[in-house]
Order: sequence, then structure tokens, then C-alpha cells
Amino acid sequence: MTSRPENLGPNGFEDSRKFTEEDESQIDLCKRWISTFIEPRKTLNDKTYSYGMKHIAEDWAGSYVSNGAFIAAAIDLGYRYKQAQGKKNPNAIFNMSLKGYEALWKRCPSCGKRVGENTRIKGGETGSCPKCHAELLWEKEGILKVTKLPDF
Ligand SMILES: [Zn+2]
Repeated sequence: MTSRPENLGPNGFEDSRKFTEEDESQIDLCKRWISTFIEPRKTLNDKTYSYGMKHIAEDWAGSYVSNGAFIAAAIDLGYRYKQAQGKKNPNAIFNMSLKGYEALWKRCPSCGKRVGENTRIKGGETGSCPKCHAELLWEKEGILKVTKLPDF
């Protein structure tokens, strides 16, 4: 396993602060999101900019995660990364495929069950996933957001 680089902190690269216990719980959430939605691919993917990815993971988790937490989670899980170009850029890209995530559009972000218009959950409404019972909020463009994760 590649270890986390020295210059990686909660803000991302070029942040010398250490990760706290609070940061580690954000890292655990990011690992759970990555393990659910992402598979590795051979080459680095410039669509996997860490700051964008951390927002997706954050929406799924329903709580804040930092840019550095997402990067640390990816590194811990064995993903390759490259610091984004630009002087002191805190962001990174990874060898991650987004196909799994994209296939989950209009699906329960927790378990993957299709939760479309023919279920009780519709635009702007909340409800629980018929399969895993995560509490869901239907946001714009068919993206479902988990408001409460099921017990696990
Ligand atoms: Zn579900």
C-alpha cells in the first residue's frame, strides 16, 4: 500500500497539518463511497478531480468531507494519483473509472436499487429505499441523495 505523502493534509496537497481523528472519520466515509461506486482503471482520469469527487462523496454521506480526506482515502485504497498541475495545487486526479457511479444515476446511492418515477419517491420528495431502507431525497436531475444511511 502506498503511504500518504508528507505534504498531504486536510486541505489536500501542500497542507502540512496532520489528519485528526475527525479527519479520519471523513476518510472512512470516503473509502466507503469509493468502494461502493468506483473501480480502478489503467490510466489516470482527468474527470476525477479530487475537489469534485469530494463533493459527490459528501452529498452521499450527508456530511462534510475535506478534499484531503478524499485524496487520503483513495491513496489508502491503492489508487494511483497525480497532483493536479499548477503551483501549490491542493487537488489530485486518480486512476478511477466513473462508469459505476454514472450507472447509479436514479438509483439508491446506498445499495444501487433503481428508485425512479414509478416508486413513491419523486422530485423534491423524500422517502426510504425499498431495498436497503436508506432515507433518500430526490434532488434535481434525478440524483438521489442519502439523508440517512441504513444501519450497517
Ligand atoms: Zn437502497
